Amino acid sequence: MRITVLAGGVGGARFLRGLKAATPDAEITVVGNTGDDIDLFGLHVSPDLDTVMYTLGGGISEEQGWGRDGETFTVLHELAAYGAGPGWFGLGDRDFATHIARTSMLREGVPLSAVTRALCERWQPGVTLLPMTDNRVETRVTLAVKGEGEAGGGTVHFQEWWVRLHAEVPAAEILFTGAGSAAPAPGVLEAIEAADCVLLPPSNPVVSVGAILAVPGIAEAVGAKTVVGVSPIIGGTPVRGMADACLAAIGVDTTAAAVAAHYGAGLLDGWLVDDQDKEAADDPRLAGITVRALPLLMRDLAASAEIARAALTLAAELRSGGGGDEPGAPS
Ligand code: GDP
Ligand code: CA
Repeated sequence: MRITVLAGGVGGARFLRGLKAATPDAEITVVGNTGDDIDLFGLHVSPDLDTVMYTLGGGISEEQGWGRDGETFTVLHELAAYGAGPGWFGLGDRDFATHIARTSMLREGVPLSAVTRALCERWQPGVTLLPMTDNRVETRVTLAVKGEGEAGGGTVHFQEWWVRLHAEVPAAEILFTGAGSAAPAPGVLEAIEAADCVLLPPSNPVVSVGAILAVPGIAEAVGAKTVVGVSPIIGGTPVRGMADACLAAIGVDTTAAAVAAHYGAGLLDGWLVDDQDKEAADDPRLAGITVRALPLLMRDLAASAEIARAALTLAAELRSGGGGDEPGAPS
């Protein structure tokens, strides 16, 4: 079986770990978000690609869910002693090595997709990990003007808003700069077209999945397949992190149903919601999307595998022509 997954960082990686456990023989291609990529200290950092690579390759910090295990921070401390910033982005020594290796290849003219393949030779993540594009796409946030005399109106890199400002300043707009003229990385459209199903893990629908879908051609290719998504919202909260701040910026409520309605029936065929959100099945906005409820908290590998199995089961049912007639479907 061939499965293609559009993934952000922590939520995507945890789901993928479960997916691999649920279906060890499947050929899995992961299209990773690069809108969060940022240049720091002259180095190209790809947070979401690295989170997937480290998590599936066994090098992740389990406590944080991102970054390397057994990290030390000598380099960052030495840089701080020179007053070299920014000080708000945590980069450990082991992680630095990844960014140095990536940047040196990029400087030689190697595209990010080939660089990612080279880095994965070490980590053997057991999936084909592709960046969404080899072009530079940068997620930027226009800060809302809060009030007279207060900061606002300017635009900052997504990481600055998320990590430095903790998304506390409301976002007026989220932009994927460069996306309009970006092309899907080699292999991305092919992997989507060849897939038996496309899965959307419980990744941030705006800045992770949304950034991937902003690359011209990807949304159309995905929409033509059987697509099952997993809600990143449980009981009106984003479980971990601040995804609600991103949803607010695009005028989408922080509910499992609103996120599915945002993706729309043109993209999604099936939608997994938590048991707490099972009323989403009756939401008229989700006509044409088959909704199924189950526990969606990825508290451990077994729980993540169970969610992945449910996504595959639903995709198989939808593919075999069940369509909107499935039990639990709103129409
Ligand atoms: P990021 O790039 O590290 O922010 O990671 P992703 O975009 O892949 O996913 C982050 C999202 O995963 C968060 O906004 C949460 O809404 C969602 N999430 C995190 N943990 C869980 C979980 O245990 N269950 C579900 N359903 N969603 C989760
Ligand atoms: Ca991310």
